[in-house]
Amino acid sequence: MTENEVRQQLVDAMRTLDARGLNRGTSGNLSARFGSGMFVTPSGVAPDRLTPELMVFVDEDGSVATGAARPSSEWQMHMGIYRRRADAMAVVHCHARHSTILACAHREIPPLHYMVAVGGGASVPVAPYATFGSEDLAEGVVRTLDGRRACLMANHGLIALGPNLAVAMAIAEEIEEQAAVYCGTLAIGGPKLLDEAEMDRILRAFEGYGQPRAGS
Ligand SMILES: [Zn+2]
Repeated sequence: MTENEVRQQLVDAMRTLDARGLNRGTSGNLSARFGSGMFVTPSGVAPDRLTPELMVFVDEDGSVATGAARPSSEWQMHMGIYRRRADAMAVVHCHARHSTILACAHREIPPLHYMVAVGGGASVPVAPYATFGSEDLAEGVVRTLDGRRACLMANHGLIALGPNLAVAMAIAEEIEEQAAVYCGTLAIGGPKLLDEAEMDRILRAFEGYGQPRAGS
C-alpha cells in the first residue's frame, strides 16, 4: 500500500467511526504501521476536517518531520503496540459508549457470546487506569492485550488491533456490540456464560478462519 493510500484509509476510517456512532468529535485515534514507523491521526482535529495531508508519520524513535501536524496524544500507546506485537499492522482506539461504560466500571466483557472471541480471548479484559497520553497507559494496554486483539481501558474506552485497518475496525465494532449486549443482560439479571471448553472451541475455530470476521 502506498503512503497516500494509508493516509486516505485513516481519514476514511476516522469518519466511519464517527458515522457509526463508535466515537465522537476529536476523541479516539487510529494508526497504521508503515515502513520503520507508523501513520497516526493528528491531535485535536474533528473527523470532518481531517485530510490525508494531516496524517502524521511517527518514526520508531518517536520523531516527527518538521512541519507535520502534532500526532495524537496517544501516539505512544500505538507505537508501544507495534514494538511488541509483530502481528499488529493497524490500531483503532475509540470511546464507544458501551465499552466506555464497562471500562468506567472496571468490568471486563465475560464469555457471554461466541463473538466475544474476536478479541482473541475468552473475555475482553480491562487495562489499568493511567492518564491519557502517558507512557504508563501505553505500558498497561500493551501488557493487558497479552496476545489478544482488543481490550477495554479503565475509565477511558476501547482499543483493538489487527493485520490491517479494516479488520481492526471490525474488531472494535464487534467488541462494542458485545459490550452493549452485556450491558443489556445486566439489566435483566445478568448473562448465562459460555463455559471455558466452548470458548476454547470457538477460539480455535476463529484461528481456522485465518482472521476474525465481523460476523458470521
Ligand atoms: Zn482516548
